[in-house]
Amino acid sequence: MKNLTLFFIALLTSGLGLAQEAEAIKEKPQGHYNISKFRQLKQELPTPNTYRTASGAPGHEYYQQKADYKMDIILDDENQRIYGEEVVTYFNNSPDDLEYLWVQLDQNIRAPDAKTADVKADGASTMYNPKKFTEQFLGKPFPGGFNIDHVKNIDDRDMDYTINGTMMRIDLPKVLSSGEKVSFKIKWWYNIPNHVIDGGRSGFEHFEDGNNNYVIAQFFPRMAVYNDVEGWQNLQFLGRGEFALVFGDYEVNITTPEDHILDGTGVVTNRKDMLTSKQWKRYQQALTSYDNPVVIVTQEEAEENEKNSTEKTKTWKLKAENVRDFAFASSRKYILDGQAVKIGDRTVMAISLYPKEGNPLWEEYSTRVVASTVKSYSAHMFDYPYHKAISVHAQRQGMEYPMICFNYGRPKPDGSYSERTRNGMIGVIIHEVGHNWFPMIINSDERQWGWMDEGLNTFAQLLAEQDFEPGFPSRGYPKNVVDYMAGDQSRITPIMTQHDNVFNSGSNAYSKPAAGLYILREVVLGHDLFDKAFKTYAERWRFKHPTPADFFRTMEDASGTDLDWFWRGWFYTTDYNDIGIKEIKKYQVTEEPNEETINRYKRYGMTKEDLKGKYLFLAEMDVDEQSSDVNSYADIATLNEYLSDNFSAAERAELKNTKYFYEIVFEKPGGLVMPILAEITYADGSKENKYYPAEIWRFNDKEVKKVLGSEKEITGIKIDPNQLTSDVNQENNSWPKKEKESKFDSFKNQTATD
Ligand SMILES: [Zn+2]
Repeated sequence: MKNLTLFFIALLTSGLGLAQEAEAIKEKPQGHYNISKFRQLKQELPTPNTYRTASGAPGHEYYQQKADYKMDIILDDENQRIYGEEVVTYFNNSPDDLEYLWVQLDQNIRAPDAKTADVKADGASTMYNPKKFTEQFLGKPFPGGFNIDHVKNIDDRDMDYTINGTMMRIDLPKVLSSGEKVSFKIKWWYNIPNHVIDGGRSGFEHFEDGNNNYVIAQFFPRMAVYNDVEGWQNLQFLGRGEFALVFGDYEVNITTPEDHILDGTGVVTNRKDMLTSKQWKRYQQALTSYDNPVVIVTQEEAEENEKNSTEKTKTWKLKAENVRDFAFASSRKYILDGQAVKIGDRTVMAISLYPKEGNPLWEEYSTRVVASTVKSYSAHMFDYPYHKAISVHAQRQGMEYPMICFNYGRPKPDGSYSERTRNGMIGVIIHEVGHNWFPMIINSDERQWGWMDEGLNTFAQLLAEQDFEPGFPSRGYPKNVVDYMAGDQSRITPIMTQHDNVFNSGSNAYSKPAAGLYILREVVLGHDLFDKAFKTYAERWRFKHPTPADFFRTMEDASGTDLDWFWRGWFYTTDYNDIGIKEIKKYQVTEEPNEETINRYKRYGMTKEDLKGKYLFLAEMDVDEQSSDVNSYADIATLNEYLSDNFSAAERAELKNTKYFYEIVFEKPGGLVMPILAEITYADGSKENKYYPAEIWRFNDKEVKKVLGSEKEITGIKIDPNQLTSDVNQENNSWPKKEKESKFDSFKNQTATD
């Protein structure tokens, strides 16, 4: 019976409870996944292993493949064609057996059946040049792409191969075991595209004088990367995501018209035979000219060259060790100059190749900029290991290869140029020469992660630009990404996005990661810790293949600082930073607890008298009211007595100096967590900087308070006064508030009504 009664009561209560419970569920805040912005990146980062450690260094079983190339190349200037025969020797240093090899055929992006154009959604353009119009609409696409004559093994037997877009699978007659190598031969040719008309990262420019300027890259079948991270790299080359390449040694013979001047990756072993005796003598002078460039092939000689063409040819011999790629530039129009740069106890040559159309800009700046860049980057990362760095002038190019890069920046035909052209040229040369570090030597996978080379390099570029010319308008500053980060969220991707899928690559892969590193250096870690950690990353992964996790982990490991919150916010989300001042409260010291305090302590059985004997109290006052100092407090006798009962004489003296008490309420409309940089201005005009680490936002992501005691009255507070944190809204950064609609607010209002 008793149990039955209980049952009824239970039934009754649960029956009654259903509706209430539903109400309760509705009202009760629901649970959530761990959304703390400070949670560690456990799920985002791969598990450390023997190839890549938890500290971000290569593990004890780290390996990388190697590919050596011996190539004979013919540059056919008459038909703008290139022919090649190559012997590739591939070393399998992985622990795995390989049944086939994947080779990259990047020129196939230019093949008539290339998918590149098909995956690009494009509307009608209102203007086409005749060549493009013919290609796109009249069914006569440019006959580009590799023509593979054969793939043979070293005994001249044909090997089976399958072409898949920009990739080619070569089937091995016998499994390539761990530790073994295999050699094979490929014979190929292709039509060189005109990069000025068709775009792309290499090709030729045709001049009105009938001559061509060839900047040649991605020109031979190159081994794809096989490693512990991706297996075989299998993302097609679509044009944006650049290259994943293995290191190796190169011996390359390039046959050009006899009147061409050429340079490229590696040592030109027969340079003496390629130059006139006068030019060779000037070249020798350049080798010891540390202050100024020496012109080796003069403009007069170049102008003489470009008057006629020739049927005769000559063969340039180049040799390079431990490079991830090979490129060259060739033209009868080239002027050549060079300068020596001391790096450690070695001499590196800074070299420029440019047609006369680049002057007077190029003779003035190019080689000097190369020399300065090599010095700056060596200081910030590690000494430049190669013997030369070349800057080639090519219209609309800004593209990097080991030891050589192609750069824009052309004056008007009358030789005049704008500040913008000059700075653009200097900036692009610093950037492209800088790519020798990222990714040519610190060999990240560009196809996957554009930011790992572009972002890190844009950051280092900023340092080198300021070394070359203090105040140079560098793009990597945090304030330069504010508009991008505050913009339309549907047009922003997290930095951690595969490069072909990135919206607005310039901001996403270049400026934003660069600004992030700038913030880490200037705001979060400071120069010493940051530079040490960044250098550690560079040194650990020089001539190796790092991943994002290796970078994130090394920066934490070498600086002894947990930065997961920074990587999470800046690299894995599209959140922006906006920190502001919501409110300022002003207080003075009293011996009287206020009503609220008295009520709060009532529940613990404490009375006003209990509190008065043990504590000091702050009484809020109007923020504009002139603060009374401690000694002039209304009931001064009582306060003094109270103070002498509870403080030592020394403490009382200090207290007399601390006259003003402020509570600052910081608000954070932005999604990112970021340190608070507050510049306090006092009544006497002096300023003080307060720094609150990002961790201040751990328990309240929207609003935090700080109390300041001060001798002097505070007349103003400004958050991030030097714009170091990409704060998207400056209008809430100041107290007293400025009455003005911000750019950000007007932007928000605009999008809200659109
Ligand atoms: Zn770049």
